[in-house]
Amino acid sequence: MPSLQQYHTFSLASNCASIVEFDSVDSFLNAYNPTVNTYILGGGSNSVFLNDFDGVVLVNKIKGISHYDTESHHHISVGAGEDWHEFVSLCMQNEWFGLENLALIPGSVGASPIQNIGAYGVEIHAFIDSIEAILLETKEPFLIKGADCQFGYRDSIFKHALYGKALITKVNFTLPKEYEVVATYGELAVMDSPTALDIYNKVIEVRKAKLPDPKQLGNAGSFFKNPVVSLTHFEELKRVHFDIPSYPVSENQVKVPAAWLIDKTGFKGKALNDVRCHPTQPLVLTNIGNAQGGDLIALAKQIMHAVESEFKILLEPEVRLVGKEGLISL
Ligand SMILES: Cc1cc2nc3c(=O)[nH]c(=O)nc-3n(C[C@H](O)[C@H](O)[C@H](O)COP(=O)(O)OP(=O)(O)OC[C@H]3O[C@@H](n4cnc5c(N)ncnc54)[C@H](O)[C@@H]3O)c2cc1C
Repeated sequence: MPSLQQYHTFSLASNCASIVEFDSVDSFLNAYNPTVNTYILGGGSNSVFLNDFDGVVLVNKIKGISHYDTESHHHISVGAGEDWHEFVSLCMQNEWFGLENLALIPGSVGASPIQNIGAYGVEIHAFIDSIEAILLETKEPFLIKGADCQFGYRDSIFKHALYGKALITKVNFTLPKEYEVVATYGELAVMDSPTALDIYNKVIEVRKAKLPDPKQLGNAGSFFKNPVVSLTHFEELKRVHFDIPSYPVSENQVKVPAAWLIDKTGFKGKALNDVRCHPTQPLVLTNIGNAQGGDLIALAKQIMHAVESEFKILLEPEVRLVGKEGLISL
């Protein structure tokens, strides 16, 4: 059985029936068999294979980038198997600005709309004009406009009505020529009149300092989503925890940083065998050696339990956890 260890950034030792890399729609259609359990993979930075997967893993390597511009916009079509950060860097070199806050997010372009990747106050949905895909059931191509993708916080139609039903082959981005940098968040907020390139460089610097590099320390980025709670619930919490941070979401909801909640429950730096809650960013769980899927699940559940007991908040995993048959939920 081929090993999946190099195909997902958490790098658990897991195998599957077969791994096929495809670089075109035709080669995907040749490899895809609807009667066989299949997992479509990009860079594997949001997927964790907890143990052996009883099916075929199809790895998207569809490449190609084309660009044209109008008076007001840059229009860029990108093959789903392109590397996300390399694409952002190419945009910077060409002065197609807008994606700078999303620098250094690992993974493929094709996976970027699935969880509507976001960082430093920017989410990708703002720049997606449309997505080209194949409907797995009929093998027919279709195009969906960004406006119809039901984008939300780490969410899109590809996690709901189109979940497991489509292969994304191309993402069409539109970047306005007239734009304002977004420097409202964290370390960017203290910068003095930054340009898009300044933001790009700063984001890379901060991410390198804070987040473990999956090539050196297996991880899948933020293990949990930042929970959204009602304002009433938040005000109750604030009476006990004066320093609890929050970001406004709507008139009666706020987002609470999951890292803060996990830190407060004392998990920062704690390990269960070879799975550790990262010492400088407790939202990231890491593989510090020869981690086992069972230990990852056990530590994640302990954290969820502790946060729920202390704050009455249920944490939800951001990562896709893949078991023997396919995706599992905690
Ligand atoms: C160190 C680190 C930092 C991170 N930081 C961030 C961050 O700041 N913000 C953020 O939003 N995310 C972040 N992530 C998460 C991750 O990088 C993103 O979710 C990324 O978009 C995943 O891309 P991928 O190609 O690796 O996805 P994969 O793990 O390969 O796939 C993710 C899901 O999409 C499906 N899929 C993949 N490609 C296709 C396709 N072409 N068609 C249909 N389905 C497909 C898979 O089946 C799977 O369900 C981080 C991860 C790491 C390891």
